[in-house]
Amino acid sequence: ICCCCGISAAEGKTHYMKYKDPKQPLNARIKDLLSRMSLEEKIGQMVQIERSVASAEVMKKYFIGSVLSSGGSGPAKHASAKQWIKMVNEFQKGSLSTRLGIPMIYGIDAIHGNNNVYKATIFPHNIGLGATRDPELVKRIGAATALEVRATGIQYTFAPCIAVCRDPRWGRCYESYSEDHEIVQAMTEIIPGLQGEIPANSRKGVPFVAGKTKVAASAKHYVGDGGTTEGINANNTEISWHGLLSTHMPPYYNSIIKGVATIMVSYSSLNGEKMHANRNLVTGFLKNTLHFRGFVISDMEGIDFITSPPHANYTYSIQAGIEAGIDMVMVPFNYTEFIDGLTMLVKKRIITMSRIDDAVRRILRVKFVMGLFEEPFSDHSLANQLGTKKHRELAREAVRKSLVLLKNGVSADKPLLPLPKTASKILVAGSHADNLGYQCGGWTMEWQGVAGNNLTTGTTILTAIKRTVDPTTDVVHKENPSSHYVKSGKFSYAIVVVGEHPYAEGNGDSLNLTIPYPGPSTIKNVCRALKCVVIVISGRPVVIRPYLASIDALVAAWLPGTEGQGVADVLFGDYGFTGKLPMTWFKNVDQLPMNVGDPHYDPLFPFGYGLTTKPIRAN
Ligand code: BGC
Repeated sequence: ICCCCGISAAEGKTHYMKYKDPKQPLNARIKDLLSRMSLEEKIGQMVQIERSVASAEVMKKYFIGSVLSSGGSGPAKHASAKQWIKMVNEFQKGSLSTRLGIPMIYGIDAIHGNNNVYKATIFPHNIGLGATRDPELVKRIGAATALEVRATGIQYTFAPCIAVCRDPRWGRCYESYSEDHEIVQAMTEIIPGLQGEIPANSRKGVPFVAGKTKVAASAKHYVGDGGTTEGINANNTEISWHGLLSTHMPPYYNSIIKGVATIMVSYSSLNGEKMHANRNLVTGFLKNTLHFRGFVISDMEGIDFITSPPHANYTYSIQAGIEAGIDMVMVPFNYTEFIDGLTMLVKKRIITMSRIDDAVRRILRVKFVMGLFEEPFSDHSLANQLGTKKHRELAREAVRKSLVLLKNGVSADKPLLPLPKTASKILVAGSHADNLGYQCGGWTMEWQGVAGNNLTTGTTILTAIKRTVDPTTDVVHKENPSSHYVKSGKFSYAIVVVGEHPYAEGNGDSLNLTIPYPGPSTIKNVCRALKCVVIVISGRPVVIRPYLASIDALVAAWLPGTEGQGVADVLFGDYGFTGKLPMTWFKNVDQLPMNVGDPHYDPLFPFGYGLTTKPIRAN
């Protein structure tokens, strides 16, 4: 018996449902489906729950519209692509067994590759990509990431972060491409990479995702996330309307023009008002002025934080968030409380049905556009796209282009880099020389990142150096050698790799921005005795001035990811240094915030700085 009109299959009539017909125009499908939906079904579409509380039964019972993996959350430790696909398909089965069979969409933070998944290619974090100044490269990274996400059956990523980081004290600075909005704008090229190139005749603001090899993107975090006072995560951004429009808003214009499917709201406040409750900016500006027609998603438990303390008055939070214009709510655990609260608000006519319909229309639009109704399940045909050689080569290229050379010898005519491959004995020192987890930073396998080499597969900088130098060169690795050891070792030169330990979000907020112990002492012990190159692995500029005089060559390598070979490629001259600073490098933290264009701009290395070297061509 048909769920909608009672016609049974046995009667021999094929019952036509307009919304299921891919030949129908998009709006006709949306309209038809919306007209069939009950309030319960509509509210379910607006809910995104965490995979750990999801099941086929839950999807079915509550008509849940979406599921997410929060940082590091997957079907099993080191799960394979096929295990991920199985999990996602299982939830999809639940959704498709509902009366109207509306597919769910599964989202994950694939923010530098499909970084929760074992053996995925991990690309440099955004700050490093900003240093490449190469939007076309970033677009290719988007396309590779889309394939690696689809390889696991997932259709949606909470990326790109298009924050304009104005203060390196912010723990999410590395998720930002630059302090300069023009660079961030250019890097929104990742969106056509992830979603596909929007057709020229598209109506402005209509989302576009080109099918099975692409994923829906989410530009985040709307808006002003990178401008909070003292870089405190999720705090308040104090800014004029002009400042907002000219600094933090521009990347959103580009994202919308490129057909971004979704936009995520920021935890932060704007001039004291929580963005999750900011109707003027979410509905007024984003939807009405900029004509964004995809869906707006909350951040994780974002509406809870509308009140202080969080969750204090949840009904109020639901009302304020939905009225502001949030369409899908990342609940993600206490979904029944959300569903009950929103249902009550609609039944009491506090929240209008037209607001609910607007939200659901937008969610359905994305699902229709990307072909989810036609192909809701994933087969294994893309599973072999995870961590391919091709993608690793691309990541390696990105690493090479992301390196910024800040110092090279005492003067331009006496450069230290590129290094010779044929030295007899070299020292590789520092906590970060042989640590894949440190190279990848936060948002890698775990929300806060992981230390060590067991998290996933890849090449550490030490391994890369060994592979690059002449077989006769003796490469000695010592994490934190004493100065006596350094002096007595008869080394030709040293490479010191130090930096920050992994962190994510507020845990990375730092007022001092110092390189953690023993980094500074390793630099001192080695560089006072030997010609040395210091490579800094960090998500942002860090305190370096006190050691600069003793360092012969200095390289900012950001958070390069799994392909450490890219570092050795440039260090030993197979390629030249080309990267440019995406952020101003401060002299001392008292200067912060300090951005290019400021009246008293007095950096150690200015925004855009970066020395170059020529590749040594073997002939
Ligand atoms: C972050 C978002 C992320 C979400 C889901 C939040 O804590 O702010 O950027 O997409 O978690 O993992």
